[in-house]
Amino acid sequence: MSRAGKILKVDLTDGSVEKIPTARYTRDYIGGPAIGARLIYEHVSPGVRGKDPENMLTINTGPLTGTLLGNKCNIMAKSAKMTNSTLVTAGMGGQLPSEIKFAGYDNIAITGKADGPVYLFIENEEVAIRDAKHLWGLDTEEVQVRIKKELKDPDVQIACIGPGGENGFVGSCIIHDIQNSASQGGHGAVMGSKNLKAVAVRGTKGLKIADREAFLALWQEYWESLSTGRTRAYIKLVHEESLSTHADEYNLKGMAQWGYGPDASFNVPQMKKEELLGEFDRKYRVGSIGCAFCPAQCKANYDVPGLTSGGANCFVYLTMRTPVKNLDTRLWFKALDKLQKYGIDINEITGITGWLMLLYQEGIITAADTDGVAMEWGSEEAIMTVIDKIAKGEGFGRHFTDGIVPAAKTIADGNGFFLACQDRNFGIPLSLPERGVTLSGPGATKMVQLATEFIWFHPPYDRHGGYDLFAPVFGLTGQETLALTDKWLSEFAEKRTGNPDAWKPEVVEGKARYVAATENVISSSDLAGNCDGPTARTPHAGCIWDVEQIAASIAAATGDPCSTEKLLETVQRRRLLEFSYNLLCERMVGDLAEMSPALMRTNIEPVPDGPFKGQAWDLEGSIQAGEEYCTLRGVDPDTGVPTREALEKVGLKDLADKLEESGGSASDEVLKASQDNLVRAGV
Ligand code: SF4
Repeated sequence: MSRAGKILKVDLTDGSVEKIPTARYTRDYIGGPAIGARLIYEHVSPGVRGKDPENMLTINTGPLTGTLLGNKCNIMAKSAKMTNSTLVTAGMGGQLPSEIKFAGYDNIAITGKADGPVYLFIENEEVAIRDAKHLWGLDTEEVQVRIKKELKDPDVQIACIGPGGENGFVGSCIIHDIQNSASQGGHGAVMGSKNLKAVAVRGTKGLKIADREAFLALWQEYWESLSTGRTRAYIKLVHEESLSTHADEYNLKGMAQWGYGPDASFNVPQMKKEELLGEFDRKYRVGSIGCAFCPAQCKANYDVPGLTSGGANCFVYLTMRTPVKNLDTRLWFKALDKLQKYGIDINEITGITGWLMLLYQEGIITAADTDGVAMEWGSEEAIMTVIDKIAKGEGFGRHFTDGIVPAAKTIADGNGFFLACQDRNFGIPLSLPERGVTLSGPGATKMVQLATEFIWFHPPYDRHGGYDLFAPVFGLTGQETLALTDKWLSEFAEKRTGNPDAWKPEVVEGKARYVAATENVISSSDLAGNCDGPTARTPHAGCIWDVEQIAASIAAATGDPCSTEKLLETVQRRRLLEFSYNLLCERMVGDLAEMSPALMRTNIEPVPDGPFKGQAWDLEGSIQAGEEYCTLRGVDPDTGVPTREALEKVGLKDLADKLEESGGSASDEVLKASQDNLVRAGV
């Protein structure tokens, strides 16, 4: 019912268009990126790399997308990164996901490569591949304005790339409107490699809800939790405050003190009032926008006279600040705006810039290595030069086209490699656990590192500043609110693991179950096509929408039976499919080992200062949790390979056979890299 009913498959090489019934996949995969992963598994050989024409870019809505409870799509393809030719998913909101559903499609799958620049125009049943030579080279704002003008339709919704994607930079994103992006994994470069400048969609069909009464009751519950229930603290955080009032305390100091700073000695100095993000927000915010139907509208719109106008969401307040020692808010916004227009991921560029600045400080590089520009901490010239050179693929920027790892092996004769990959681990720190990750090595070290990082990093980090934001919502003091948010965390930990303390950074017992439960709610949202922001993945921010409510919403919207058990089984099927496919890719392409040695500094060194002083990742605990996690997910903890029993249980016998045929254990290289990783960390 709430499904559009068709999957649109377009081959840009021969221009063919195919429409496949979504029903072929819904029983086993429900929707969203689970269907996207299945499509890629069926059509893309594991040996294909991200920028090969055979790679398939999938845009995946879910059964709730386009309803009052859904506003997102997930974009999935094999990553453009040389070092990670495995599946990678990035979420994107705005109006586009709903428009795709209204045009009649649940998923769009694009393969092949056009002879020259094109854009895809979809208007209900009409699907056209149009010439885009005149649009190539334009930034993401210009291209959207031009296409809307050409089509004489301001309501057409567009996803596009900028120069970053055109030039194949693996940190490039797909941009929709001004603040929505699919950022991780280089999907912009995947589009660029297909000569695909944009996908423009107009849909007028609407959707039907199977059980309106049940659906509206669930929506009311959701709405009340956001407007009067405890989740309103989340809304307060992302909408009214947008982290701005306390952003400097929360982000700059929190990041530095937790060890995410540019170097272990960095202390954020006392800032002047005019330098604070809160002051910037008060002065220049002209409104808030967000995704279709969402009451949170969590993104801020700014207009800075004499500079530029544009938007920011809470996530980007974290970037282009501490890691590059930039305390100039106008410069932060200038860089952010440029990155959005070039279609480049701010995390990737922040990481690269911070790494170059660290190399410069350490005397490993000089200005001669960066086209005459000194990589001084916080320098506007340095930051804007890095952005320009990388987006255009010019000068030293060319080294970064395939990512920081190949660049680290080239720049300064590879002398900064350790700082890039071991100490800084720039490409990874804020990745979510279930996005584009392959299990590998003993105890699936890398997996656990990422997954537990998300769990272990966020609660203490958010507790550092978040509770001050919530306090006025509840009429409590900061300390009382801290006690309240700890209680919420404990309730969820108990429900999910039986151990109320499982969320605490220092506690290992129950951690694997807590990680898996958090992944389950994120993945369930992805499948459903609703936003995982206001869900129980962040119980410490008051959010309560969990897998039970998501399953009930899918059932009410589609009319298909969808219990919590079925949803969780589908999440598990998706994960095992992705793990197994990624392992097959790893064995074919064989370059994942390059990323495997990555360990964050916080894995090795205790936090140098601040409220978390002395805290460090418990790596032995991580490995123990990793082994438990593997067992929970049906993966052999010694090899990182899904077991035949687990695969057959979710109907993936064919994958069990393929894994057996291709070797039966994780590649020796990755296993060895993981072992080196542990030795290096002193375990
Ligand atoms: S909370 Fe999620 S769905 Fe709502 S506006 Fe923000 S990103 Fe979009």
